[in-house]
Amino acid sequence: MELGKPNSKEMICGRRIRVCGVVCLMVLALAGTGVFAQSKRTVTRNPTGLNWLVKDCGQGVELRLSATDARQGSVALVRVTSKRSLEEVKGEWNGNATPIWHTTFSKLTEGDTWEGLLGIDLEQEVGEHDFKITEKESGQETVICRASVTVKDGKFATEKLTVAPQFVEPNPEQLARAQEESKRLHEIYAMVTPAIVWKGQFRIPLTGARTGGNFGKRRVLNGEPSSPHSGVDFPAPTGTPVHAAQRGRVALAEPLYFSGNTVVVDHGMGIYTFYGHLSAIGVKVGDSVEAGAVLGKVGATGRVTGPHLHWGLEVNRARVNALGIVKLSLHPPEAH
Ligand SMILES: [Zn+2]
Repeated sequence: MELGKPNSKEMICGRRIRVCGVVCLMVLALAGTGVFAQSKRTVTRNPTGLNWLVKDCGQGVELRLSATDARQGSVALVRVTSKRSLEEVKGEWNGNATPIWHTTFSKLTEGDTWEGLLGIDLEQEVGEHDFKITEKESGQETVICRASVTVKDGKFATEKLTVAPQFVEPNPEQLARAQEESKRLHEIYAMVTPAIVWKGQFRIPLTGARTGGNFGKRRVLNGEPSSPHSGVDFPAPTGTPVHAAQRGRVALAEPLYFSGNTVVVDHGMGIYTFYGHLSAIGVKVGDSVEAGAVLGKVGATGRVTGPHLHWGLEVNRARVNALGIVKLSLHPPEAH
């Protein structure tokens, strides 16, 4: 499809070069099992409807993972409960540190309860990956639980498109700018700030929107494979208010080459949301924002051919489908 021509059904967006169709191909989380490769496992359903994979780690410690579908681009809730109080807990996923926080939920239950998020990057290799939980007590770190998680193929659609060369070949100056911005974003995502006490569940940034499309789509532009589309697109009229998905602190608020006017919100614990192509930005770096605060307005800035919101979610540097976090009943971290 020729993208040099205006076409209401196509748009380009993203932090790198991406082409996004407005027609949504929603990657729905389908119920599945088989996340833990180890034999000691059970699947239970909690009152909120999540399927939990439960592992008895021994010594009164239990690990639950809401990974009904451990596919590329998905996000799972991790819950660790212990009959004795744990001093400090952290996770390690695929060799990367994963924050696990003490929750206010502990007060409601008999056990000590810790939670975290397991983000499975949209390009995570399919197959078995190690997830372990470590307790730090009196300066000593001990692995208290270990599980093997089977990551499945996200089965993202691939589209072959022919586009005008300037859409995929920025000039050296533009390329240098885009690369600098990408590096800066990676530096932001690598920072794990302490707990930000959340309010309620994460929400979709557009009022009334129930779903979005294009997450994970692989694109082949002019015969060359391009970066996968790491966000969710919501077509909406220019000027539609864009709300913060959760309480947080503004980590970036400026025009970027590919994503146009962009806001990134740090929710603490390595969790960031990204809002691209805004017509106007209403916040500045360092602002504390409440859940639902207006960050800006929908627009068509950056590489787009139509107004829409590009919404991204990074969980410990994994690019995941932001719609996944909306479904999770997270308990807020304790205030420090
Ligand atoms: Zn997009």
